[in-house]
Amino acid sequence: MLDKVVIANRGEIALRILRACATLGIKTVAVHSTVDRNLKHVGMADESVCIGPAPAAESYLSTPAIIAAAEVTDAQAIHPGYGFLSENADFAERVEQSGFIFIGPTAPVIRLMGDKVEAIKAMKAAGVPCVPGSGGPLGDDAATNAKIAREIGYPVIIKAAGGGGGRGMRVVHTEAHLNNAILTTKSEAKAAFNNDQVYMEKFLENPRHVEIQVLADGQGNAIHLGERDCSMQRRHQKVVEEAPAPGITPQQRADIGRVCVEACIRIGYRGAGTFEFLYENGRFYFIEMNTRIQVEHPVTEMITGVDLVREQLLIAGGEKLSIKQEDIKITGHSIECRINAEDPDTFMPSPGMVKRFLAAGGPGVRMDTHIYDGYKIPPNYDSMIGKLIVHGRDRETAIARMRIALGELVIDGVKTNIPLQQRIMADGGFQAGGQNIHYLEKRIAEQREKGIGRG
Ligand code: ADP
Repeated sequence: MLDKVVIANRGEIALRILRACATLGIKTVAVHSTVDRNLKHVGMADESVCIGPAPAAESYLSTPAIIAAAEVTDAQAIHPGYGFLSENADFAERVEQSGFIFIGPTAPVIRLMGDKVEAIKAMKAAGVPCVPGSGGPLGDDAATNAKIAREIGYPVIIKAAGGGGGRGMRVVHTEAHLNNAILTTKSEAKAAFNNDQVYMEKFLENPRHVEIQVLADGQGNAIHLGERDCSMQRRHQKVVEEAPAPGITPQQRADIGRVCVEACIRIGYRGAGTFEFLYENGRFYFIEMNTRIQVEHPVTEMITGVDLVREQLLIAGGEKLSIKQEDIKITGHSIECRINAEDPDTFMPSPGMVKRFLAAGGPGVRMDTHIYDGYKIPPNYDSMIGKLIVHGRDRETAIARMRIALGELVIDGVKTNIPLQQRIMADGGFQAGGQNIHYLEKRIAEQREKGIGRG
């Protein structure tokens, strides 16, 4: 069992990790930038260390500063949360070389999954269904590439092997545009990711985003905890997530879940992870694996009763998975609304002082947030300030609870996307369930034309 953990993150996830540590009696070290001294978890942690100025590059992304903090506090392990250094294989390696436990998979596994071409190869070999594609990096021969595209069938998408965050992708509809698209994506990828490898996939036109949560102990045991539907997106950013995914049958869940579990065991996966799929016409297509805890993990916790961060800590402490696949029972339905400090219509970030915060409550309502009355949201980081999560016996109940909770939630002093979330919950298409990844953007564009949502 671990005795002291450095929380190498900020905001709601840092608080979430602190809470999980506290339930296990693990001591915590909060590391923070100069503008983050007043974060809620910093005040609650057993110790805190200022690791640098506001810019993330000089604080939350500084490997030496974080490792030094672990050294001076005599901590044992480092939890990276999500974002920042959480999927940085070099960081994981440096942490372990310095004698600390990295709470996540081993560096080689993170590296494998960070290279999308290699990740897809590994997943294909493990029997995970992938999008029809080039199966490897594209060469320079235009005729060969044109042949690959013809075999896959247009439209195709050119993607950077080192890409991330929805960047480094280009859709091609006809052969006339193919070569140019490959060359442009290559040069952009070289500039952005210092890796000019690109590959080609069939472009799925109306997919949903459905992902599978896994836990593995790195000692030969792995389980899946069902799926989440994260199709409500804007600019490839998830806005609402839910579990289970509407319309997915227990048989489909068991089948795709088993494939993911087998893949975990095969690659020696350790910790919590997510297999992201596009889902179209009843079929799953692997796109990438996230080798960390995700923002939307609470919806899975609500329907399974498993504390995923606690499990991460136990696995990192060397324990074998104590939960068996047959112990995972899905109960009811859960929805998460991301709460961002941003203009609900223009999406411009809205940092500043939270003058008044009143949380929502009641049966099946959970709010993961670090904000409080008088908390000043700095302009330096992501605009997400919390997550409102509900659970109900069925999807209808969950939506009803979310609508009431959004109405109860008060965040004064900054603009938030609460009005957008209310419109989504009231939307007939969302209520019907199973919309694709383009639905939200289309609805936002339509409402903008009609002038709805304009103050
Ligand atoms: P990133 O790591 O940048 O998030 P992903 O491979 O996860 O890259 O893709 C990001 C998003 O791009 C997906 O959620 C989906 O919306 C779109 N996308 C990626 N590949 C395809 C594809 N083959 N067909 C259709 N859309 C795709």
